[in-house]
Amino acid sequence: MSAGPGLVACPHCGSLHRRIPLEPGGAAVCSLCGYVLYRVSRLPLSAWIGLVLGALLVFGIANAFPIVSLSFKGLTVEASLPGALLLTWRNGDYGLAVLTGLFGFWFPLTQLLVTLWALLVIRSGRLPHDFHFGMRLLSLSIPWSMLPVVMLAIIVALVKFAGFATVHVQPAIWAFAILTVLFTILARMTPYRLWFYAEDAGLVVATRDDILNARFIGACECCGHLVSLQSAGQAVRCPRCRSVVHYRHEQGRVRAWAFLFTAVIAYLPANLLPIMRIRAVGTDESHTILGGVIELWQLGSWDLALVVFVASVAVPITKLLALFLLLVKKHWVNAAMQRQRTRLYELVEFIGQWSMLDVFVVVLLGAMANFSGLSQISAQPGAFAFGVVVVFTMFAAMSFDPRRGWDQRFTSSTRVIA
Ligand SMILES: [Zn+2]
Ligand SMILES: [Zn+2]
Repeated sequence: MSAGPGLVACPHCGSLHRRIPLEPGGAAVCSLCGYVLYRVSRLPLSAWIGLVLGALLVFGIANAFPIVSLSFKGLTVEASLPGALLLTWRNGDYGLAVLTGLFGFWFPLTQLLVTLWALLVIRSGRLPHDFHFGMRLLSLSIPWSMLPVVMLAIIVALVKFAGFATVHVQPAIWAFAILTVLFTILARMTPYRLWFYAEDAGLVVATRDDILNARFIGACECCGHLVSLQSAGQAVRCPRCRSVVHYRHEQGRVRAWAFLFTAVIAYLPANLLPIMRIRAVGTDESHTILGGVIELWQLGSWDLALVVFVASVAVPITKLLALFLLLVKKHWVNAAMQRQRTRLYELVEFIGQWSMLDVFVVVLLGAMANFSGLSQISAQPGAFAFGVVVVFTMFAAMSFDPRRGWDQRFTSSTRVIA
């Protein structure tokens, strides 16, 4: 792929750059804030298509077959992700079933299907008129597509269960392991990148230099196209993908505060209320998040106890504190500090979804322990409250506009950094 001559704006600091051709495997880094602006893949388009096709096949296996079968006192239970979702729904935990179904099934599937379609139409050399719609759907799906977290939840659930029943692994567990790798690779195939492919193939226009005469330059957050704005408060539709483009996030700070506040409120029941109830012959006990960590520790899996502690206790607190720090001060004193602030924001974005771990564990355990008359694990209100914390901290991070912190460096004249 040869890079075109277009201009790009850094999503994290708003500075403008000219897109220069890179070697395959290369990455262009923003000289102001250090954010990776774009990469050039070593793989040709056809290899990416093969990769997504493979991922779709493995995704089918992961959901059509059981993850494990468990034997206990002559009874056998097979647990699969769709089965676990259905059971959670039937138990009346609708919120939990919907959250897990969206993040563990629908968003990953949408990501795969839309990416495949986009790659195929770009290769065919003709973009359909609804290409922009697909790209907006993809940018919506990627942050909420949490397959690697489901895989970690499977491992945690299995360790919790290994002592109680005889566990036989089934094909879907290997499928989820392969998907974890594939989704980690595919996370790089963002709408931005697909628009670059389309730009380089001459299928859509690149941003031209006359944009530099504009009073304010807005960067489309879906396709990266730059548009001219009369004022900082103006909103226009991107001519390329029809998304609404603002100079900066409209009311971003206010919305981020509101989401953060909601997350903090939900954080209390998430930790104080039990997340699951275990009923077996002779026992009926409820577990909180911290109780689950202690139980893993007592089972001898100190390593996994540590992983769950980090994902469920340390990560949410870090996220809440980091968002508070980002929001409480509009910008930090100098460029070096501001760069640290950008790294902090990237950390919040990166760790965002991992706290869903315990929510997925509860849903999976429900399916694994479903031995009629012998044992049952059901979700409790704490699990849904925890899901709410994760969702609202992610909303808060999305509303926050990291570019605002850099605005003090710029006057109304716009510059292009090489
Ligand atoms: Zn930057
Ligand atoms: Zn656009």
